[in-house]
Amino acid sequence: MAPSRQLRPKPLFDEPSLRTFLFNHGVKDVHMGKIWKYMLANPTSPLDQIPSLPEKIRQPLKEEFVFCTSTLVESIKSEIDGTIKMLIRLQDGGEVEAVLIHHSGEAQHPDQAQADRCGERDTLCVSSQVGCRLGCTFCATGTMGLQGNLWAGEIQEQLIHARSMRGVQNIVFMGMGEPLENFNGVVSSIRGLADPQRFGMAPSSITVSTVGIVENMRKLMVELPKVKLALSLHAPNQALRETLLPVAQKYKIEELMEVIDDYAVANSSDGKRKGMVMVSYVLIEGVNDSDDCAMELRDLVKNRAVIVNLIPYNPFEGNVHDYHEPSAERVDAFLQILVKADIRVFERRHHGRDIGAACGQLAKLSAQPALDIENCSGKLAKERMKIGEEGSMTIKDLPQKKSVAAHPLVAALECTEAGDENDLAQAADAQQRKRWLISASVVALAAGAATLVLLRRKAARSACR
Ligand code: SAH
Ligand code: SF4
Repeated sequence: MAPSRQLRPKPLFDEPSLRTFLFNHGVKDVHMGKIWKYMLANPTSPLDQIPSLPEKIRQPLKEEFVFCTSTLVESIKSEIDGTIKMLIRLQDGGEVEAVLIHHSGEAQHPDQAQADRCGERDTLCVSSQVGCRLGCTFCATGTMGLQGNLWAGEIQEQLIHARSMRGVQNIVFMGMGEPLENFNGVVSSIRGLADPQRFGMAPSSITVSTVGIVENMRKLMVELPKVKLALSLHAPNQALRETLLPVAQKYKIEELMEVIDDYAVANSSDGKRKGMVMVSYVLIEGVNDSDDCAMELRDLVKNRAVIVNLIPYNPFEGNVHDYHEPSAERVDAFLQILVKADIRVFERRHHGRDIGAACGQLAKLSAQPALDIENCSGKLAKERMKIGEEGSMTIKDLPQKKSVAAHPLVAALECTEAGDENDLAQAADAQQRKRWLISASVVALAAGAATLVLLRRKAARSACR
């Protein structure tokens, strides 16, 4: 059981709270859409000024709810790739991080024809819990333990904060926490994110990553069939998986494969994506990165509707396991074994690694920036969040781009992250021809690490209530 978290005032975009409020006041819940729509268009408006609301709920609504309960207290921008890591303080003092990953859409190579269709876009990686109780041995969030589940409204507020800086086309639940351990909160938040009267994202542009909570994966497939699934596998066999992920003792690999197969069947009529599940695999040197592991993984996923994402281990301070990132050659050898078996496979880019925003590095942002970023000039100042009355953010002037479907955080090939599975399929074919890209990105990272400049902006005044 997650520690309970009480919020007062409550988040306006939290549907269960608002529905209960209206019910308790004997008012039809048809008013919810009106409230959200008006407040998103007029975020600085006091809640008792929303037009055509029943008089009797005006004052109580203002007392019990607030446009935004959380505060963007800090954001750091990577000079390497434009990724922004946001530190968000919750009403009760808890802190979570969200990452805004920028895809330039520029072709990496003249051969990369599909890049022409990509365009510039941003993916928001959201947190679903404060910390995580599952303690995967390679994950920074796992070292924090679980401090509580985020409310659905708090998850949606991460998009409000992100939109104050950039348009967002895709959302991935790959931040802090295990989304399927906060099932109700996450499902309700996705309904809000996809609600035309709230944030209007396409459900297929939202991906939920899970370590494999089988019963909730199945529930999610029923409740939100269009939402995409990512499975964090990390080992090709049960015994090794259990050494890396304590939760694997409960959920066996065979059960996970069955879910993947059922997801493919359930989505088989979805022409473009054919029910593909993203399988994430963190490569840790000398632990799960051998040729034998690659061959075992190949045999496990061959003939399944999956796209394998190889993620070289990202180090973080405080890991007691002495894990290391494998060499580029090792990653390449592992990848080639899968490619030769015609398995769709990509190496996930290290977006924002210079600012500790890459996979598995999300925890305790405020503790240790990699450089003394106070000394750097602030490009982020140009992207200032607007602060309105009552500390609410003004979002009406912010750029809103068309949503596109996505399997984000996916690929070494930038275009693949545009999320069109046609591109995924083409990119898989193209991957063999573009192996140089992966080596190049590793080299670029090394070079970038030497020259990076970090920017930080303190936005302590952006509290929304
Ligand atoms: N709890 C969910 C959602 C978090 S997603 C899940 O685990 O899927 C976080 C992603 O980052 C997961 O794919 C996870 O395996 C990966 N990750 C965690 N620690 C990492 C590390 N140190 N290096 C690289 N990837 C890591
Ligand atoms: Fe939790 Fe996911 Fe990290 Fe495991 S990898 S500890 S499930 S956030």
